[in-house]
Amino acid sequence: MNPEELKKAWGKFTEKNEFILNPDEKYVDGIIDGVLKNEEKHGLKLCPCRLRDETKEKDLELICPCNFEIQKNWDKKGDCWCGLFVKRK
Ligand code: SF4
Repeated sequence: MNPEELKKAWGKFTEKNEFILNPDEKYVDGIIDGVLKNEEKHGLKLCPCRLRDETKEKDLELICPCNFEIQKNWDKKGDCWCGLFVKRK
């Protein structure tokens, strides 16, 4: 998957949800770059902002998009841990 395809897939993921992709496109491009580098290195589209502990269990939690609506950050700040997805206003 190339960066454009990934951005498109994430855009589709936000449809009919209470969140959108961060409107800062450069920021989103940076996250895409990190996720795709992780895929090259680890074989999974892992979050670029959180640390792995090299267990399969943890890696499964870190696949982007993660279950960010249960994170404290979502309640407090209205975005996922990395700020890739933000609450729709
Ligand atoms: S915190 Fe954001 S960028 Fe990181 S995995 Fe979750 S949705 Fe993706």
